[in-house]
Amino acid sequence: MTNSKYPEIINDLIAAFKSFPGVGQRSAVRMAFAVLKWQAGKQKALGKILSELDDKIGPCPKCGNISSPEQLCNYCSDMSRNHNVICVVEEVTQISSIEASGLFKGGYHVLGGKLAPLEGKGVDDLNLATLLKRVKEDDIIEVILALGQDVEGQATAIYISDLMKNMNVKVTRLARGLPAGSDIAYADSATIAAALSGRISLD
Ligand SMILES: [Zn+2]
Repeated sequence: MTNSKYPEIINDLIAAFKSFPGVGQRSAVRMAFAVLKWQAGKQKALGKILSELDDKIGPCPKCGNISSPEQLCNYCSDMSRNHNVICVVEEVTQISSIEASGLFKGGYHVLGGKLAPLEGKGVDDLNLATLLKRVKEDDIIEVILALGQDVEGQATAIYISDLMKNMNVKVTRLARGLPAGSDIAYADSATIAAALSGRISLD
């Protein structure tokens, strides 16, 4: 919704803020006018960051986490971690929730979503091929499926565990403890720690 009271560039700014999760028209207007009041230089500095994002950010070629283009992410390149265990998450933001539990020191794999046929999200839309390649080639002993407890998350977990049935790898999922439909990114660290330590085998 545009508002003809404002110059076009302000309407564009409001529209940009409205695209953030949970931001409605009123908040977007407040944010736009807050930006207008910024000190000299700060708007240009933000513009520079935004214009460089595309070139400076890319998926980690190994796990799909956010990284510099063509470079291993901070977890994949950390040799102090146990790279024989992979924790599979739906989105990049969920990694920091699992890290906050302090319990997991293995590697990650970011699917980039979950199977959701009604939203047109199928097997080919997920970062699955590299996961299978890692399990085949990297001496992986356990894959922990830290997916949502909602129908799509569980269907995705079942699909992946079926794919790995004959691959000589232990497949587990988080213990129940996350409310149905909850996004693991918003669960507290104690809940995640309990779900991790009580994980259930899918073999
Ligand atoms: Zn990585």
